[in-house]
Amino acid sequence: MTTSKVLLCGGGNAIHVLSSYVSSKPNTHVTVLSLFPGEAEKLRNAIPSDGVKCINDLGPDVYGKPDTITDKPEDIPGDLDLVIFALPSFTHEMYLKALKPYLNEGVTIGAMPGEGGFDLCAIHNLGSEFVRKSNLFALETLPWACRIMEYGSCVEVLGTKKEVEIIVSPKQGTTKESVADLLHELIGEYPRFDPADNFLAVTLMNINSVWHPTISYGFYRDKDVTKPFDEPPLFYYGADEYTGEKLGKVSDEVLELKRVLLEKYPSLSLDALHHVSEWMIRSYGDDIGDKTNIYTMLRTNKGYRGLTHPMREIEVDGQKKYLPNFRYRYFTEDIPMGLVVTRGIAELASVPTPNMDDVIIWCQKVLEKEYIVDGKLTGKDVESTRAPQRYGFSDLDTFMKVNHYLDHLD
Ligand code: NAD
Repeated sequence: MTTSKVLLCGGGNAIHVLSSYVSSKPNTHVTVLSLFPGEAEKLRNAIPSDGVKCINDLGPDVYGKPDTITDKPEDIPGDLDLVIFALPSFTHEMYLKALKPYLNEGVTIGAMPGEGGFDLCAIHNLGSEFVRKSNLFALETLPWACRIMEYGSCVEVLGTKKEVEIIVSPKQGTTKESVADLLHELIGEYPRFDPADNFLAVTLMNINSVWHPTISYGFYRDKDVTKPFDEPPLFYYGADEYTGEKLGKVSDEVLELKRVLLEKYPSLSLDALHHVSEWMIRSYGDDIGDKTNIYTMLRTNKGYRGLTHPMREIEVDGQKKYLPNFRYRYFTEDIPMGLVVTRGIAELASVPTPNMDDVIIWCQKVLEKEYIVDGKLTGKDVESTRAPQRYGFSDLDTFMKVNHYLDHLD
């Protein structure tokens, strides 16, 4: 059997799990690349001779030791089969740029998690032709909830997800399923990988990008965000009727974008794209007590009980108080890699988005960023997003072609 050459990028919790699982398989050669200053050396020195121990919820402990741990892209083998990013998305571009000279066409490369325009970022940095001749994939989330117990030597998988959506843009002659199978071979039977339609449908269906910014906007819109709270306020159960309606209107705008795209490109598959109210009923079903509207669903969904707004603790006159944490991923990921991406595609398709704009404009104010200026995505911080405008797209046809959304269509 031939050896699978695997590159794992990162150095945190998920890379500990992957190092253990993938290196434990026979016929694998595993390299870990970390571009975070000092991390590769720290990890190399911390891994014991029997490897990283992974305590997990599905069976016996697993031990695996990567063959190489480096911070130098030139150290990676030239004929890699698989590259996995397990990193926050703001670092993807840095890794893609660093790896570009060392990647071979045909490689399978992807991110876990990798929603919100990972494909746009990969195509921009690796080139449209390179990506067409390779397998690009992204998982909707990480397969596990995991945390390092002892750096370099022990990690715990607290829970393995049952099913995770995988988006694959396969090269000619390969199937989405074969990429999912390759990942199963390396990390095990679970989670089951469920192949999604395509990157565009998943980007536009990214529920977090609608949910988190819009609910935050709805809650804080008429509050002084510099005034501390006595307790972290409830996120979903604290939503008001206005917020429920706003979520519906933002989602209506996404569905209008779907309608316009399908009118222009009738063979495009956007079946996975649903209204948030439909998504909620499908995802939570009988956990929802009152399905009258989005507002009642938010406040009666058992799955949302007790969840609070992300806050940071402060002390005022010796007492614990709480301020909003706008550096949390609800803002740092779900705006630049989420709602702004959808807004950018809507702009290319000339679909008006007044409700989405209300949310983004409020968010950019509290984040001290500039995305929308005079109704267009031309602000200085667009360059740190994954909106099509950041990659220089100004017309829809070119955007659809270069990013392979029209490949294999009649
Ligand atoms: P982590 O925080 O343990 O590791 C992040 C890694 O990213 C670091 O080790 C470092 O290599 C790199 N990194 C961070 N900041 C960087 C910077 N400024 N420059 C260069 N590199 C930098 O993350 P993780 O727990 O391994 O998770 C990986 C991804 O999966 C994250 O996006 C996380 O939000 C997501 N996620 C994690 C879990 C979990 O249970 N751990 C669950 C769901 C999703």
